[in-house]
Amino acid sequence: MAETQARANIGVVGLAAMGSNLARNLAHHGNTVAVYNRHYSRTETLMNQHGSEGDFVPAKTVEEFVASLKRPRTAIIMVKAGAPTDAVIEELANAMEPGDIIVDGGNSYFEDTIRRERNIRARGLHYVGCGVSGGEEGALRGPSMMPGGTEESWKTLGPILKSIAAVAEGEPCVTHIGTDGAGHFVKMVHNGIEYSDMQLIAESYDLMLRGLGMKSEDIADVFSEWNKGDLDSYLIEITADVLRQKDAKTGKPLVEMMVDHAGMKGTGTWTVQSALSLGIPVTGIAEAVFARGLSSQVALREAAENQGLTGPDMHFDLNDSERKAFIEDIRQALYASKIVSYAQGFDEIAAAAIEHDWKIDQAAVARIWRGGCIIRAQFLNRVSEAFESGQASVSLLFAPYFKDAIEKSQAAWRRVIARAVEHGVPVPAFSSLLAYYDGLRSKRLPASLIQAQRDFFGAHTYGRIDEPGVFHTLWAEPNRPEVKQD
Ligand code: NDP
Repeated sequence: MAETQARANIGVVGLAAMGSNLARNLAHHGNTVAVYNRHYSRTETLMNQHGSEGDFVPAKTVEEFVASLKRPRTAIIMVKAGAPTDAVIEELANAMEPGDIIVDGGNSYFEDTIRRERNIRARGLHYVGCGVSGGEEGALRGPSMMPGGTEESWKTLGPILKSIAAVAEGEPCVTHIGTDGAGHFVKMVHNGIEYSDMQLIAESYDLMLRGLGMKSEDIADVFSEWNKGDLDSYLIEITADVLRQKDAKTGKPLVEMMVDHAGMKGTGTWTVQSALSLGIPVTGIAEAVFARGLSSQVALREAAENQGLTGPDMHFDLNDSERKAFIEDIRQALYASKIVSYAQGFDEIAAAAIEHDWKIDQAAVARIWRGGCIIRAQFLNRVSEAFESGQASVSLLFAPYFKDAIEKSQAAWRRVIARAVEHGVPVPAFSSLLAYYDGLRSKRLPASLIQAQRDFFGAHTYGRIDEPGVFHTLWAEPNRPEVKQD
């Protein structure tokens, strides 16, 4: 390889929407960017349309691409997750040398990242799984990024990623999350929380649409108003914009002309699966995934309609001042639910950190989510403060700021759910998050009965509240004696 050709300090492989925007962002910030794509046409398109925006080094082959990189060679892969990513890693690893850094910026499953990191490390190279959030726009204008990998790779990669990240409160939205799969794990939970946020917003919309009979334009105004307070966030802001968008064909609100089947690419499901493996309840995220699932069970829902499954009248019969008060109740229910949902997401991260021996700084995670990513919100300032001060070290819900917020909003939260249930408006995330909160604060849960049942049919044993040890009752015997187990 001719060393004289090596002038790029960073490279991007995969020049579809994400990769080309990330390459442009890198170039806009003074990096010399080597670019390569399996089919050269994408590289040509990038060079033709944006080549003048910065210093790009286009390559036709992987070998040419690698040769154009300065040592330690650093390449960010932005291709389809799964087998394509494995194929590109293999090609790069074959052409690179020990000490070089391969970064996967795609939405890879964290277990894949752990496996790949182990394999690449064994070959003397660094492997960094890096979650990138913010979609195409974020990739171009500043994403929030969650890199894993070694401390050593972070020394090279850190300044480059900081140069292109979104900036929130003067800080770049990127930090070294932890080793191997930590970055992709945290990105996965980010997406799970995003699912939950979106579901909570959708439930609020439904309560206003079907419960209060409001028009989409008026609901948009409510979301715009909410965006000025505690709920100030990207998702609330775009919800107002979405609800105002008119369909060019019919003149109706576009959202009302769209099919109601929510798609998903899998990160929400992964978040729930991981939480199940870790034994951490993430009820908000799980309900959001299930709600998307139900929305897409088109044939079953049609069959239910044809069967005439009955329910109460969904309309809430309220006068003007009651309606106004109820809209404020929905706002408070949304805020309280959101707090609990985030507490659950951070619990999952904390449990995974223990499981995988990752040293994850929860405050730093909250800080890098304040800008660039889909869940960016003012509220994350309070979350990062709670972790920073140590007040949230056991649970976000124990931090005085959030404890007070839920105390103030919970009466409204309960009123909303009660009315929704009474009128048959489904609010799965609102209600499961409240059930979680009520379970969490319960000194005693009905799980003793479950233990008794388990011991009855399966001799699974139980503990006693007044004595240490493990016990089993001989349920089949007439006087049902209790036996202490060794
Ligand atoms: P796509 O996921 O649509 O992938 C297209 C790219 O993958 C093209 O460059 C394509 O090359 C390449 N590719 C596909 N198969 C192979 C293969 N076998 N070998 C080599 N290259 C292959 O592109 P996006 O830009 O949408 O996303 C890139 C990554 O970023 C994905 O992992 C995605 O999950 C992730 N991501 C996407 C976000 C988004 O909003 N779109 C947000 C955050 C992350 P070719 O042109 O030759 O076919």
